[in-house]
Amino acid sequence: MKCEICNKKLKETFLGKYEGMNLKDEKGKLHWVCPECQDTLNNDKKAILEKIKGK
Ligand SMILES: [Zn+2]
Repeated sequence: MKCEICNKKLKETFLGKYEGMNLKDEKGKLHWVCPECQDTLNNDKKAILEKIKGK
């Protein structure tokens, strides 16, 4: 799984989950973002989705 903003590989935790967050866009598509990009965008989901779509 990769961060969709910086393309960095997300670390897998011991439960088989990934670090960072996933969020759905308005079409229900799931997107992944690493903790660093989350911080950069102040955890603002709207801003994060706009950043992903802006690529
Ligand atoms: Zn990232």
